Order: sequence, then structure tokens, then C-alpha cells
Amino acid sequence: MSAGLCYPDLPFAPLTEDSVVTGPSEVEQPDDAAVPVDDPRIADVLTRWWGFDRLRPLQAEAIKAALGGRDSLVVMPTGGGKSLCYQLPPLIADSTDVVVSPLVALMKDQVDALEALGYPAAAIHGGMSDEERRQVRDRLAAGDLRLLFAAPERLVNTGLLDLLARVGVRRFAIDEAHCISQWGHDFRPEYRQLALVRERFPAASVHAFTATATPRVRADIARQLALRDPEILVGTFDRPNLVYRVVPRTDRVAQVIQVLGRHRGEASIVYCISRKETERLAARLAEEGLLARPYHAGLDARERHATQEAFARETIDVVVATVAFGMGIDRSDVRLVLHTALPKSLEAYQQETGRAGRDGLAAECVLLYSSADVFSWESLVRKSAAESDLDAAEQESLIAAQLEHLHAMRRYAQAARCRHAALSEYFGQAYAPATCGACDVCLGETGSLPDATVTAQKIISCVARVGERFGVRHVCEVLRGAKTEGIQRHGHDRLSTFGLLAGHDQRAAENLVHQLLDQDLLGRTGGDRPVITLNERSWEVLRGRREVVLLEPRTSKTKTTKADTDDWQGVDRDLFEQLRRWRRRVAEARGKPAWTIVDDKSLRAIARDKPDSLDALLRCHGIGAKRLADFGPAILDLVAGKEPETLSSGEPD
Ligand code: ADP
Ligand code: ZN
Repeated sequence: MSAGLCYPDLPFAPLTEDSVVTGPSEVEQPDDAAVPVDDPRIADVLTRWWGFDRLRPLQAEAIKAALGGRDSLVVMPTGGGKSLCYQLPPLIADSTDVVVSPLVALMKDQVDALEALGYPAAAIHGGMSDEERRQVRDRLAAGDLRLLFAAPERLVNTGLLDLLARVGVRRFAIDEAHCISQWGHDFRPEYRQLALVRERFPAASVHAFTATATPRVRADIARQLALRDPEILVGTFDRPNLVYRVVPRTDRVAQVIQVLGRHRGEASIVYCISRKETERLAARLAEEGLLARPYHAGLDARERHATQEAFARETIDVVVATVAFGMGIDRSDVRLVLHTALPKSLEAYQQETGRAGRDGLAAECVLLYSSADVFSWESLVRKSAAESDLDAAEQESLIAAQLEHLHAMRRYAQAARCRHAALSEYFGQAYAPATCGACDVCLGETGSLPDATVTAQKIISCVARVGERFGVRHVCEVLRGAKTEGIQRHGHDRLSTFGLLAGHDQRAAENLVHQLLDQDLLGRTGGDRPVITLNERSWEVLRGRREVVLLEPRTSKTKTTKADTDDWQGVDRDLFEQLRRWRRRVAEARGKPAWTIVDDKSLRAIARDKPDSLDALLRCHGIGAKRLADFGPAILDLVAGKEPETLSSGEPD
């Protein structure tokens, strides 16, 4: 790990107040269930276009604010369903609305998904030819578009606003609105120019959307966009369909392979910290026969794009990536997000795990934890501050803020308490259920080591015997009774602690030492060759005045969660796989992401209900008029056990 940490893809963000825990939110909503729709206009459009029959929490409020022309600030976690809040109103109002989005990839994904519904939407960006842009402008001028996506700099600098004024645009949605704030984790100065929109369109309403919940960022968004008496809607940050697990890291590669084994053929993201590691690990996984590819900011743009496309079209299952992978990945059926090292903050962890299970079906988030990562991050924090242009005082406060984030992350990983509760509380929201049924702690998977105190005493006395002058590896080799050259040279094979942990392999032994370091039951010096030392607490353990609890350093067994069983209830898995194969072919033929064709949730509904008529198919989740016309016959053939005559109708295959 240590060597790899030299090239993390994202440098530390500037000092933020993200660690400030928010107070109770303005509008608190339970997130357990979507609710039926009370407004028939909304209900009608929702079923006709999307094939959905319910709205998620706060979607109704957000849609009504938009329809009523009242400014709004909508804060929802990733996957909460923000896009529907600006996609639906222009269909009802028969208007052309504008969506500001920071990245071309994000715009394209959304336009693809909307086109699959037959929804008239387009993006305008620098990657298009003049001719393509002219076509979009023509459609816009003719009033044919319900949504236009643009980046802020294009919106304000290219005369586009004049055209929008002629068309009579009355609603602007600002996606990823935290980009406007320097207190957010992703400040983009271009967003500041959006103030101009308010000046040029005083009668239009502005609707800001973000997943960043801190009060400071929220207030900054409202001020920068000059929102007028905005309706503020803050969603629940808990994601009940995600199962969180923290597993002591003993053997990274073996553990990654083991976890991926639970998700064969499913979309998975494996996060590493260094670029080199993503390449090494992806190559190892490919040797295991997994469809895996690396992704990091050091690859050239073409290669990165090819990997994103392959993932979107389901020709690969696993992306082994640095944190550079994520923005612009909208695949909603990611079933696993696996962190092979500790992220630098809970904000980052929430965002990265947020990419799992966006379709609402059960998904797993596994964190392989070793306190070695904490030490690596700490030295990186100090090093990058020292290399910055900041003066000494600023460096100190930067370091302090970043260490605070890091230690919150470490506390989460170490704590033996409900992960859902810990995450919710960190983001300022109380978590009501006594047990979540969807984390390693509540499922009772975290096994503790029998005789932990005795084991700790063995380790601590070995540290004392080698004179507090050696690192983790050497101490563990002595404990295991290894005959290394170093041990013989120092005569450590003659120590009374030699071979006391003979039954453990090296990785397991090192994991135990890291657990003691984590609990501050051993100390460690800084520098390049850190040495393990004793502290006051170590002596208390040695003298039998302190009990020690250690986790079993093996990967614990996992249990099936209720959510997972429920999502598969009654689903014919063979049929589901056939439908997925068909979908992959359609996606290939159309050059579109597979999930935009029909998502997993719908495929499971079809493989459960086995509709035998177009009417019955229309009643399945996610099937609206357009999908029915496009794919109805092919799907019915598949359900009937026949090879479909055509992949789809409509567009040529
Ligand atoms: P966000 O932008 O907040 O991260 P999205 O808008 O991408 O989330 O929505 C996440 C997923 O939830 C998408 O697959 C979307 O189709 C689905 N979704 C949104 N609203 C609903 C709803 N009312 N019923 C069913 N699925 C929904
Ligand atoms: Zn729990």
C-alpha cells in the first residue's frame, strides 16, 4: 500500500467545513417507501412515460415547487431520484426547461436515458459538430425540446441565453449545485457565472439540486444563485438497500476475489488508491476469468472512454478504479462497491458507495480496512500541505481539517456499531431502527477473537523484547517463529516470545498488530521506517489491568440479507439472465448503455410476473408506452421461451 499512495487521483480538497455535522433538516421525511401520487397530472405522466406508479420522498414536493414557479433547493443523496424532479415538470407544463450540468458525460447519459423513453431532450456542448449544434438550436427554436442540457460556461457565453429568451424559458434546474460553493468538495468557478441567469431571466424560477448536505454549502448555493424564498427540501441520507460491511484486511487480492465471487456477472466497482494498483489488480482479476478493467486519470481519454462504455453496455462487469471513476457513471444496477483501502473521509465514502444500488435493489458495500491506511494518509496529508503554497498557519489548519475527516472515517471503520446508524448520524440525521438488518454488525458477522487479551499480551511483550526498535513486519515474523536472516542476525530466535503465535500466518498476525495500533494499545513512530513502541496503555494490558477485544482477522462469513431475498422473491433467475443477454445485444446494436434500454428492476419484475400479453407487460414496473412499443414483442417472445424474431422494433437493429 505505502508505495502506491504516491499517486492518488484526487489531491486533498481545500479546507472545507464538510465535517460540520448538520442539525435537523428543514423537512424530514421517512425514506422507507415511495408514496402514491395525489396529483392526477403527475400520476398520469409518471406511468405513461416512466412506467413508475409512485414517487420517492420529496419528489412530489420538488415537482410541485417547479410547476408553481417557486425557487427550490433540493438536497437528496446520490440515487435519491433528483433527475425526475426536473424531468417531469416540462412534460406537464409543455415548456422547454434548461438543466445546467457540470460534465458532458453526465449530460449524455441523461439524454440517452431520456431518449429511450421517447422524451424530447438534447444536450449542447463543445464536443459536438457545428451541424449538430445547429440542429439542437433548431429544435429549441421550434419548441420541440422539453429539456436542454448545457454546461454553465456554454450557457452564459455563447448567445444561447438570447435564444432561450426568445423561446420563453421559464425554469432553470442547476444540477450538482454544490459546484458553485468553494466550501463544497467540488468547486467549479464557472458555476459562479450562473448569477447572470437570474439577472437575464427575472421571471424564471431556479431550482438547485445537490447531494451535499452541509448547512454552509446549502446557504452558499442559495446566496450565489440569488434564490428567492426557496422551498428547501432535504432528504434522508440513509440508503436502506445498501448492505455495509467492514472487513479487516489481511490479503487484499484473495479478499477481493472472494467478495466478487458473490457478484458473478453483476456490475461491480472496486476502488483502489493508487493508479498502479488498479492496473495490477485488474490484471489479476482477469486471470481469474473476471471481465475486469482498470480506470484512472492517468489513462488516455480514449482508453477511459472505452472502459466507461464497456461498463455501461455490460461487456465488462468489474471496473477497478481510483476515485476518478464515478462522476458520469450513471449505471443504476451496480451491485457491489468494494473499497480495498480506506477513503479519506466519510463524505467521499458516502459518495462512492452511493453509486451502488441506485435502482433501489439490494447492493453491497465492502470496505477492507487496515490501520496501515490511516498512517499512509496521515503522512500524505502532511506532505501535500508542506508542498502547497500556503503559509505555515494555513498549512496547519488545512492539516487539522483533513485529519479530522480522516479520523471520522477511521472511527467508522473501527466501531462495532450499526453502520447505517453511524453514517446517518454523521450526516446529522437520527437513525430510528434499533437494528438495520443490513450491516455486518447488525447481522452478527463480526467475529471476535477468543483469548484476545492473551494474544495482545504476547504481541506487546514481543515488542518489548525486540527493544521497541522494529516495525510491524519484523515483530510478526518473530511471533510466528520465522527463521529470517534478520531474525538470526539479531538473535531474535532466542527470545522467549519467538514463535508464540506460530499458528497465524503473516498477514493475520500483522492485522492483529494493526488492530492494537488502532486502539492505541501500541504506539508507532513516524517517518519512513516506523517502529512499534509501547505506551502507557500497553503496560496496562501487560499487567492484566485492561481487557482487549480483537476481531478475528479472517474474512467473516456473510449472511443473506432480507432486502436481497425480497428483491429476488419469485424471480425466475434463468429468465432474468436471458433477458439480460437480450438487453446486452440491443444495447450493442443501438450503441446505448444497457440500463437505459430497460433497467434491472424492470427485468426482475418481468422475470417474476411473466406477462403473457402486452397489457400485462405494461403493468410491469418501468414499462411505459415507448418501451412497450419498442420491445414488447421481443420481451413477450423471451418470456414465452422463444427466440425473439427481432431484437426490438422502431429503430433499426
Ligand atoms: P440522483 O440524480 O438523485 O442520484 P437519479 O435521478 O439518477 O438519482 O435516480 C436514481 C434511480 O432511481 C434511477 O434509476 C431512476 O430511474 C430511479 N427513480 C427515480 N424516481 C423514481 C420513482 N419515483 N420510482 C421508481 N424509480 C425511480
Ligand atoms: Zn446495522
